[in-house]
Amino acid sequence: MTRIVIAIGGNAILNPAKGSPVEQQKLIDGTCMEIAEIVQQGYDVLLTHGNGPQIGNILAMQEECGLVHPQPLDVCGAQTQGLLGYLLQQSLDNRLKEKGIKKHVVTLLTQVVVESSCSSFENPTKPIGLYYPVFKARKMMERGMKMIQDKKGYRRVVASPPPERIVEEDVIKKLVNEGVILIAGGGGGIPVIRKHGLLVGVEAVIDKDLTGSLMASTVGAEIFLILTDVEKAALNYGKENQIDLDEIMVSDAQRYMEEGHFGKGSMEPKMLAALQFVKSGGKRAIISSLDKALPALEGKTGTQIIA
Ligand code: ADP
Ligand code: MG
Repeated sequence: MTRIVIAIGGNAILNPAKGSPVEQQKLIDGTCMEIAEIVQQGYDVLLTHGNGPQIGNILAMQEECGLVHPQPLDVCGAQTQGLLGYLLQQSLDNRLKEKGIKKHVVTLLTQVVVESSCSSFENPTKPIGLYYPVFKARKMMERGMKMIQDKKGYRRVVASPPPERIVEEDVIKKLVNEGVILIAGGGGGIPVIRKHGLLVGVEAVIDKDLTGSLMASTVGAEIFLILTDVEKAALNYGKENQIDLDEIMVSDAQRYMEEGHFGKGSMEPKMLAALQFVKSGGKRAIISSLDKALPALEGKTGTQIIA
């Protein structure tokens, strides 16, 4: 059996513009139908997912409500692992049952260790949550939040340190070896640091593509499949001379990244995650869209990154 780790984007699961529970369920079911088909083809699957829109919604509720004490980011991240884990676990279980496939689907609350000395804590740059007008942004800054301004308004920025180690890695390996379909490392994992040997949650978020890559290396996956909303990564993206990338080598990927072809905070972390996976011994990393998951796994489409 080919072991693969699949990372799906938060937007693929919940488009904030269509965020009603009915729409959400439809998107989740569609996603899980694709995953179930991959399982049916005989792949051994570990699933991870983003949480951008979901954590954004939680922060918006906290900000607007004013009646309850806001929770720190590690706690908000844990909430999104439960929320999306529940929806994915139930839907994937149903899709597998419909196909007559007997497999357990389990969501694992996952903590990921980050470096407390990471410069990202001093200089946070990862935008999260809603856009706010200047008067509201000022109030948030008075409460100690860091905000940045762009065309659409002000947005909170937080630390996004790279993932160092997955706390639950041993149990993840055990369950995967048992044939369990695991949903783990959701939202990039709950960020924690080690203090005198003990775990403590920190105010940060972790990139889900980088955590997916680390998880894929940790469980010795052959393929790391990143599913997003574009079929291929491209050079000169969005310009007249756009070139979609098919199969590329790590050295090409590195050069294109340095040349600035990939969007910061969107395609760049995916390319970096793909690169890191292949560099640490993975056979192939693939970036493609959810609806092209199977053909991409078969090498028929998607951007394929190889050593
Ligand atoms: P996800 O929620 O799956 O993580 P992101 O929005 O973070 O999705 O990243 C996918 C987006 O990256 C695409 O929708 C596309 O607009 C953007 N993007 C930026 N640079 C590129 C590029 N060079 N090639 C393809 N897509 C790119
Ligand atoms: Mg993203």
